[in-house]
Amino acid sequence: MTRPTTLIVGASHAGVTAAEALRRNGYDGRIRLYSAEAAPLPYHRPPLSKAYMAGEKSAEQIALRGAKFYADNDIELLTGTRVDAVDAGARSLRAGGETVTWDTLVLATGARARPLPGCEGITSGLHRLRDLADADRLSALRNRGGRLVIAGGGFIGLEVAATMVRSGLEVIVIDPLQTLLRRALPADLSALLLARHRAEGVDIRLGRRISRVIAEDGALRRIELDDGCRIDTEDLLVGIGSTARLELAEQLGLATHAGGILVDRHGRSSCEGVYAIGDCAAQNNRFAGGLARIESVQAATDQARAVAAAICGKDDAPSASDALPWFWSDQYDLKLQMAGLPDAAATSVMRGTPGDGPCSLFQMQQDRMTASFSINRAGDHVHSRRLIAQGARFDISLLADPEIPLTKCQLTEAAT
Ligand SMILES: Cc1cc2nc3c(=O)[nH]c(=O)nc-3n(C[C@H](O)[C@H](O)[C@H](O)COP(=O)(O)OP(=O)(O)OC[C@H]3O[C@@H](n4cnc5c(N)ncnc54)[C@H](O)[C@@H]3O)c2cc1C
Repeated sequence: MTRPTTLIVGASHAGVTAAEALRRNGYDGRIRLYSAEAAPLPYHRPPLSKAYMAGEKSAEQIALRGAKFYADNDIELLTGTRVDAVDAGARSLRAGGETVTWDTLVLATGARARPLPGCEGITSGLHRLRDLADADRLSALRNRGGRLVIAGGGFIGLEVAATMVRSGLEVIVIDPLQTLLRRALPADLSALLLARHRAEGVDIRLGRRISRVIAEDGALRRIELDDGCRIDTEDLLVGIGSTARLELAEQLGLATHAGGILVDRHGRSSCEGVYAIGDCAAQNNRFAGGLARIESVQAATDQARAVAAAICGKDDAPSASDALPWFWSDQYDLKLQMAGLPDAAATSVMRGTPGDGPCSLFQMQQDRMTASFSINRAGDHVHSRRLIAQGARFDISLLADPEIPLTKCQLTEAAT
């Protein structure tokens, strides 16, 4: 009997976890993992804007798995090999001049950085940060000094700002919103981050848009803001979000939603035998209150494990649809950890004083916690992840006291 074949397109957090989880679930078919990137081994993406960018970790140190892992698990890893075409009827793909058929296809194609309009034709000085090669180009600025303008005060932009200003660059961040990270953070913590960046010397301009980007012979020279301000710069990092890579999904005619490939709670797309996971997928999430494309390592790995279980016929395995979203960001010595999704209408309880050491902010719907945001309070983050997911109820009068462990703030059965 011939072995079944699972082809996985994209070898990052989602793709590699899916391959690993297939083997853990006892899948004994052929697994082939395609990576369009030239990097010899798939790697952790978050350090690109953190420890790797700061020169604290090497490419080897951020590898997801060593080469031995792929060999030991009989996972065929093809790096530098882009899948160019897929054929739903023939259940085959084309990559590296070869046609390969699948029994199961997993799309883990991730996302690409959203481009800034008006930058077409600029060949030098325009940066994005999505992969190792991007990070290497940006990192080189640390030795050169000078000015870096960052379009977008999101997590990636702010992490790079922190690293670059500490490396001696002049850093200017431009964001159209009046509040930093407005959709991701409660206002108190957003204000804390803003104050910290400004204290470190980052020039943050809120409520401003880049209206024009000026280049000479393809080389970036200047940007203009919508208030008429002109800023000379030879380097601009565009960090204004990302869009899912959907080219292969479009060739297969897959249904999409919310900018991602629409999948059910097991990661199945609208085409039989084709799954989608990670940044390219849109799935129902009970904490998001509907379909969402959640871009995080947590979502990518949880979805990958669920898909591997489904491929192995274990539909009763935990679904990523029921997983609490969580995320983190490192800026200076601040480790920001978030569990759940922010809700502006929720009641907030602050534990500790923001700006004055570790603190956590809990968002509550009556006595149930819906989200937590911790700065240098890893214990609060870890416990709140579990407790939010369980729907635990809390004595709100205790939550604000940093001396009382979160687990001790729960309401006892007798009190509920
Ligand atoms: C700089 C940066 C910092 C981040 N920091 C954090 C963080 O602190 N915490 C957090 O939770 N998340 C963070 N994220 C987000 C997180 O990295 C992503 O959510 C995660 O990488 C998604 O994994 P993925 O496997 O779905 O997709 P991706 O990581 O985007 O990988 C997709 C891969 O598929 C490949 N591919 C695409 N099309 C093809 C094709 N046709 N053929 C072959 N290969 C293909 C791509 O080249 C890529 O290698 C960060 C992201 C970036 C860019």
